[in-house]
Amino acid sequence: MHLEHAKMTDTINILAMERKALRHQHKKDYIIARLRVRIASLEQLIPIPHHAPRGKSTVTCYECGVTSHYSNKCPMKAANNSPRTGSNAVPLTS
Ligand SMILES: [Zn+2]
Repeated sequence: MHLEHAKMTDTINILAMERKALRHQHKKDYIIARLRVRIASLEQLIPIPHHAPRGKSTVTCYECGVTSHYSNKCPMKAANNSPRTGSNAVPLTS
C-alpha cells in the first residue's frame, strides 16, 4: 500500500517535473522568439554603415591608423621593425 502510493507519487512528481521542464523550454523559446523580433526591429533603427570594409582604399592600418594600406605593408612598421635599414644603412667608410 505504502509502496504503491510512493510509486504513484514518484510518477506524479516525474510527470510534474517533465511538464515543468517542457513549460520552461516553451518559455525559453518564447523569450528567444521575442528577442529575435526585438533585435530585428532594433536593426532597422540602426543606419547601415557606409564604410564597408572592401578594397584596399578603405582598409585601415592598425599599426599607424592610416588608411589605404594594410598593417603588413605599413611603412611605419617597416621602419620600426628593421633597424638595419636605419643606422646600419650608413655607408661604410673603410
Ligand atoms: Zn600603417
